[in-house]
Amino acid sequence: MSAVVARPPSGCDAPPILRERGQREVFCGLTGIVWLHRRIQDAFFLVVGSRTCAHLLQSAAGVMIFAEPRFATAIIEERDLAGRADMDDELDRVVGRLLERRPDIRMLFLVGSCPSEVIKLDLSRAAARLTRQFLPQTRVLSYSGSGIETTFTQGEDACLASLVPELPGSDAKQLLVAGALPDAVEAEFAGLFAQAGVGPVRFLPPRRATELPAVGPGTTLILAQPFLTETTRLLEGRGARLVTAPFPIGAEGTTLWLQAAALAMGADAARVEAAMAPGIARAKAGVARHRPMLEGRRIFFFPDSQLEIPLARFLSRELGMELVEVGTPYLNRQHLAGEFELLPSNTQISEGQDVDRQLDRCRAAAPDLVVCGLGLANPLEAEGLATKWSIELLFSPIHGFEQAGDLAGLFTRPLRRRAVLEV
Ligand code: SF4
Repeated sequence: MSAVVARPPSGCDAPPILRERGQREVFCGLTGIVWLHRRIQDAFFLVVGSRTCAHLLQSAAGVMIFAEPRFATAIIEERDLAGRADMDDELDRVVGRLLERRPDIRMLFLVGSCPSEVIKLDLSRAAARLTRQFLPQTRVLSYSGSGIETTFTQGEDACLASLVPELPGSDAKQLLVAGALPDAVEAEFAGLFAQAGVGPVRFLPPRRATELPAVGPGTTLILAQPFLTETTRLLEGRGARLVTAPFPIGAEGTTLWLQAAALAMGADAARVEAAMAPGIARAKAGVARHRPMLEGRRIFFFPDSQLEIPLARFLSRELGMELVEVGTPYLNRQHLAGEFELLPSNTQISEGQDVDRQLDRCRAAAPDLVVCGLGLANPLEAEGLATKWSIELLFSPIHGFEQAGDLAGLFTRPLRRRAVLEV
């Protein structure tokens, strides 16, 4: 309900950060299942929640299911909420039936929700009990995707954090890339690191639950996503050393990210440059195609995905867009330090949300493009503003050199659509 003005992490001439604590319009952490279930291909996500949770998942992901489902919802019924049923017994029964029907599941995540938190269902205890029962076939873990005080990308952070205690220990020198990436992007990064002479390189989460990367004092950690605060804390607790850099979004971000990781691993700078050169050229050419449509246009970010700061940096520096306001649900100053240095010094950043006030600021500014959640997009479109759904940026491959042009295209599409409608 309040707004606080704070100083940014660096640069005394930089504008203050507007901190807001009011009504928020964001998805909950269950949404992360939509991209995580495609990533860890022998895992299953069992949400312990309500019919609302089931509807959210079905509407967000239903159209994307093309094979055996890898997630489901165990519905907490009214008699469960009233305490008239033994929830532990019911959960054991549901999990037993599921694993009997699906012996291919190697890792089962019990995902907590608002209702399971409200009735204080202890899913970590249930996971430990079920792991004892189903190992070695299946390991059962738990995390919370509840929407109480969280944003939708924190679901991935909570999921990866639940994996960290399961990782084997190792002192060996290696690079660990944390953050869920589509297969094509992971392959691009793995290829570039190999050409640069950097290795071994492991990714968290892995494609298969049986291929968990090791971690220890020889691990150099670099983040592919900016919302992994808890995962990073736990990996550092296991001995990993974090390298911070701008995130691998756009030609510039990808260059700086690869350089930081490679040099921290002791790679030869000239070899790293040579490995990156063709990708940089392709990324710049891909982005240049979209610049005429975006240059000089004004963009406003509502806080949603925590990708807002890296995206704003990309759109401002590589496409010439003007940043009206860059809202983000949460600012991790350490992880985003490299990004702040690249943002224009007059960028208005806001952290948290008071949605009515922010809507007023947005309407008054009348930007050319608004990046926001689904709940705000339709009303703003009806008011004549062009919008981009921030959640689409999590479902689409946006990292790396090869995706830079397509990423820019995601921002030209709403402007093209509006131009067509106005003809
Ligand atoms: S976890 Fe909470 S916010 Fe998310 S769908 Fe379920 S009830 Fe709604």
